[in-house]
Amino acid sequence: MQTTDKTKTGRSLKDSIQYIKGVGPKRALLLHKLGLETAERCLYFIPHRYEDRSRVKKIGELAEGEQITFQGKVSDVHIQQLRRRRKILEVTVQDDTGTICIKWFKFNEKYMKERYAIGRLLIVSGKPTRNRYKGEGLEIIHPDVDISLEEEADPLDIGSIIPIYHTTEGLYQKSLRAIMKILVDQYAPLLEEFLPGDIRRRNHLPDRATAFRETHFPPLGTQENLLIQFRTEAQVRLVFEELFLLQLGLAFKRKHTQQEEPGTPLKTRGDTIHRFIRLMQFELTGAQIKVLGHIMDDLEQSRPMNRLLHGDVGSGKTIVALISLLTAVDNGMQGALMAPTELLAEQHYMNIQPFCEALGIRAQLLTSAMPAKEKKALLENIREGTTQLAVGTHALIQKGVEFQKLGLAVIDEQHRFGVLQREAIGKKGVYPHVLVMTATPIPRSLAMTLYGDMDVSVLDEMPPGRQPIQTKRYYESQRDKAYTFLKKEIGKGRQAYVVCPLIEESETMDLKTVLEVYEDLQKRFPEAAVALIHGKLKKEERQRIMANFKKGKADILVATTVIEVGIDVPNATVMLIEHAERFGLAQLHQLRGRVGRGQHNSFCLLVAYPPLTDDGKLRVKAMMDSCDGFKIAEQDLQIRGPGDFMGTRQSGMPSLVFADIIRDIKIIETTRKEAFALIDRDPKLANPEHQNLKVAFQEYLGDRLDFMDIL
Ligand code: ADP
Ligand code: MG
Repeated sequence: MQTTDKTKTGRSLKDSIQYIKGVGPKRALLLHKLGLETAERCLYFIPHRYEDRSRVKKIGELAEGEQITFQGKVSDVHIQQLRRRRKILEVTVQDDTGTICIKWFKFNEKYMKERYAIGRLLIVSGKPTRNRYKGEGLEIIHPDVDISLEEEADPLDIGSIIPIYHTTEGLYQKSLRAIMKILVDQYAPLLEEFLPGDIRRRNHLPDRATAFRETHFPPLGTQENLLIQFRTEAQVRLVFEELFLLQLGLAFKRKHTQQEEPGTPLKTRGDTIHRFIRLMQFELTGAQIKVLGHIMDDLEQSRPMNRLLHGDVGSGKTIVALISLLTAVDNGMQGALMAPTELLAEQHYMNIQPFCEALGIRAQLLTSAMPAKEKKALLENIREGTTQLAVGTHALIQKGVEFQKLGLAVIDEQHRFGVLQREAIGKKGVYPHVLVMTATPIPRSLAMTLYGDMDVSVLDEMPPGRQPIQTKRYYESQRDKAYTFLKKEIGKGRQAYVVCPLIEESETMDLKTVLEVYEDLQKRFPEAAVALIHGKLKKEERQRIMANFKKGKADILVATTVIEVGIDVPNATVMLIEHAERFGLAQLHQLRGRVGRGQHNSFCLLVAYPPLTDDGKLRVKAMMDSCDGFKIAEQDLQIRGPGDFMGTRQSGMPSLVFADIIRDIKIIETTRKEAFALIDRDPKLANPEHQNLKVAFQEYLGDRLDFMDIL
């Protein structure tokens, strides 16, 4: 990340670790194993925890419950046999003021006996407790112990806050620490500052060299912060610079793509919209009006809209999309609505088509499963502009699809697509406006990093009359109870979904499960109409089944997760999920969102098959605790961690070394403000004061983003 200029010392951050004092070829190999090849890499290799060895006492002075460190000699080693082959290792340590016993319940006997040979000099850290058996005297259970080589202990090992690194077999903590000390002393001073002075002052950030030095070897007095909050000024600085560069990238991308892509300003609130609103059976919610306001403002601009619409399941995103699309059509341009699954595309089409017909607008459905001849004709229509509104799956952005003049592309359920696809549709036609919609409300911190270059609107209000969904859990043994409940609802004239898990490895097994459940339900509910839907059915068949269910011709719809997104049948009030423990949290929330869409009380019945994994338990619990998509998303992020959350591969999420997307939300906000303001002031980082920043930024970007040539 830094300049490679040799300094007066002749050292460079790119120096190979082999040339560092104390590192011979053998140790170099071990360090390579840890991914450490250059001095610079080592600086970025920060401790994963710290030990407070600052309070040094004599054994005679030790007190109960106080974190202390002392030095002493092993005077006795003893293994106590307990029942059921359990053992305790007791090591007595002595100095000139007394003795204390340190104990392990879990240990490798051979290794420990060797390590704690009588006469060996130790540095022991821990909290003494009252001896459990004797009831008097002190002992320390599972202390941190370092072997000390000299009577006069090295200040690196005692009397300070000790960094603990991830290490590898054959490389002792103590040796690694000694190497890191030399390295930090010699190389940290070579790190050049790149954060502008005013940003550093405003945010109380130490300079880079200090930040790295103190992150490796924290000065005395920072224990509290380190060990309790895990944040010192030095650490904050490293998190800050990492997130700052990330936000700078987003700010930069946004600034420059906006300037360079001319879009088409649209006239909004035209005739078609007014006619459509008269056709609608309900009033728009306040949130829908607010969001449409944002969108209309964007559409009127000559720079293309790039907006993310965030709205929980059932918040009414489709209408917002449709009104926006009709605006494009009203301006003589085309609209495209893209959905992640064929089924959802079909649903959208079925919902939209009647309106379009009434308005005299030509809408068409394009899917990849379509017969070639039909598809060819359709593509022709799209190319010539006879199709005004195209609804489809990703087939809409594949090669060979050309729009005559695409005014607006709406991407529904964006979380199902990768980032690349989002960008691909942006390239159709002459820079269309783009609206991306997602129902997996992602936590704000992630939104600010993943979609940081977009404008964001939130549909934060549900259409009126919605009842909260009650979520109940049944273990497999209580499955009958769940079905009794379902029966009662059907008796009242309501409808139910029964969803079976997708077994990734085998679609046929998947099918077998739904088929079994389908047959079982037909037997259980002889008086009810049970229907079955899954991804293997023909499109016409699927459409017919969905239409029938919507009309109330079936009471129970057994399904695979094909119904996960977008399906809308207000009379359905029960969502029973088989093997709920196998589903991800976002998916469970989506599925639950299929009910609670009308004025009746709705229920989500989670049938779980023990034994549940810890994560499985947490997910089921999270579902019972909340119906709020944002809370669920936060939980999901907690359970899975940011890497998995979006599926790293498709998320475009850069990997973070220092920052933690959950913990560091405040710093994300600050860096975002600072970075966007800086790019506003100095769009190309041309200011002489920003030259170090520019170099660091270029290095950070690497091949990450393709706008390097602007700099
Ligand atoms: P989602 O945001 O999950 O895509 P939908 O657009 O499918 O939600 O809307 C969910 C349901 O709410 C649909 O039945 C839709 O017709 C209905 N709906 C949308 N907006 C309103 C509104 N303003 N008033 C009443 N019902 C609405
Ligand atoms: Mg939807």
